[in-house]
Amino acid sequence: MTELATPPAEERTGVKRISHWIGGRVHSGESGRSGAVFNPATGQKSGEVDFASVEEVDQAVQAAKAAFPAWRAVSLAKRAELFFRIRELVAARREEVARLLTAEHGKVLSDALGEVTRGLEVIEYCCGIPTLLKSEYSEQASGGIDVYSIRQPLGVVAGITPFNFPAMVPMWMWAPALACGNTFVLKPSEKDPSASLWTAELLKEAGVPDGVFNVVHGDKVAVDAVLGHPDIAAVSFVGSTPIARYVYETATAGGKRCQALGGAKNHMIVLPDADIDMAADAAVSAAYGSAGERCMAISQVVAVGNVAEPLIAAIEERIPKVKVGDGLDPSSEMGPLVTREHRDRVASYVANAPGEGAKVLVDGREGAPEDGFFLKPSLLDDVRPGTRAYEDEIFGPVLGVTRVATYDEALRLVNDNPYGNGTAIFTRDGGVARQFQFDVQVGMVGINVPIPVPVAYYSFGGWKASLFGDRHIYGPEGIDFYTRGKVVTSRWPDPATSKVDLGFPQTR
Ligand code: NAD
Repeated sequence: MTELATPPAEERTGVKRISHWIGGRVHSGESGRSGAVFNPATGQKSGEVDFASVEEVDQAVQAAKAAFPAWRAVSLAKRAELFFRIRELVAARREEVARLLTAEHGKVLSDALGEVTRGLEVIEYCCGIPTLLKSEYSEQASGGIDVYSIRQPLGVVAGITPFNFPAMVPMWMWAPALACGNTFVLKPSEKDPSASLWTAELLKEAGVPDGVFNVVHGDKVAVDAVLGHPDIAAVSFVGSTPIARYVYETATAGGKRCQALGGAKNHMIVLPDADIDMAADAAVSAAYGSAGERCMAISQVVAVGNVAEPLIAAIEERIPKVKVGDGLDPSSEMGPLVTREHRDRVASYVANAPGEGAKVLVDGREGAPEDGFFLKPSLLDDVRPGTRAYEDEIFGPVLGVTRVATYDEALRLVNDNPYGNGTAIFTRDGGVARQFQFDVQVGMVGINVPIPVPVAYYSFGGWKASLFGDRHIYGPEGIDFYTRGKVVTSRWPDPATSKVDLGFPQTR
């Protein structure tokens, strides 16, 4: 049994205290700083999360540093066995963590289970770590000389994660990082921090040694302490573009390896030959699922030619059927937004749309449940480039439609956008779809697939302002990110043949 992450005081107040996890146990925060955690479906405060000081971040890094030599020496066979155990535990207990996600993020339980399942796929990929770390060997590269490459872990690595996938995005990081032999410090979002402690307890139960996985909660103080720490070799970040840029610039200036995934504005192009019902189903699912709080959500439909009228009618017809409510109610399809401030910010785009020349076809501010941070789906027509509703990442259940005359115009819109995370095209014309895949300046492309999140054995990442760094996250590029290469040249000659030779080594 592991120590409980929750001190008894919470039983009296109903507000749980959420603390750090350092060296295999709960570490109650000592900085005197903390933040409130809410249940977005009720608007009630449900927790208080400790914010780490610079010293507490250092304690976590020192625990990870101390655990590294033994952890990197664990055989690949044992690491794989451990990952199979982690996989079984997460699969068996996925509903537990899904309930934590619904309670703090607000997403409906079925969606939370989907998040855990997609994260689990990354853990499953890491069960193959002996195969993933296989390297190359060249026998007789020169006379009696063999050359081979090996990949070794970096040391202590850190992950800084956003609020919208509190279990899955950390899994994208800690699973490959640990499988490769690194030790890890996670700084999760302060808005929904409980899933990270659940993960820490589960990893301990699975047999991950103390200090290999640590959690520090907090805000900019903790992030800056991570970015400036000399014993952290690499940082993975997922969050908004301004912070991603800051993290990348700060981490790399300090000599760290960094991958920093940022925000998005994902366009879905619908061509005149598309199946209207299928495109409308996809647009509604991808725009309003998880209340639009997905970095791969569709936020902008680009309707080409005469598809606009029937497509908009089909989307409008579907919107009233989306059931909005508490994520724990099995009939709910869309939950609340994460905080009151975020809900109000998203609603402001709907309020401002007419002033920007757009038409509000469906106003999600009307009829939303009063308790909690709810907003129903909104649909805006004639959203023009240059307006706030078009340019900003809204990150909520607001779908904009832009009408264009041709495929070329639609492509230009996508390629001119500063973001390049995801995009989708809906068409029955394979030739145009293939041309789109060739032309489009975006990292993840869907052809009749609205949310093209790559499977775990490919890597995830956008282009342009959606990713700073060279390597995408998880999959083969994740293994590459968390290891560095070494090349060994070896020979075993007869000492009798040895002589001094000051010439540059020759291979022929
Ligand atoms: P965010 O950038 O506000 O926060 C991300 C992390 O950075 C959190 O841990 C937070 O504590 C920390 N942070 C926030 N402000 C900071 C500051 N000033 N200095 C240092 N650290 C700071 O993002 P969010 O609101 O939690 O998440 C939503 C964003 O994440 C959206 O933009 C979304 O597109 C993006 N996202 C991107 C991907 C992707 O794969 N590209 C995936 C999920 C989410």
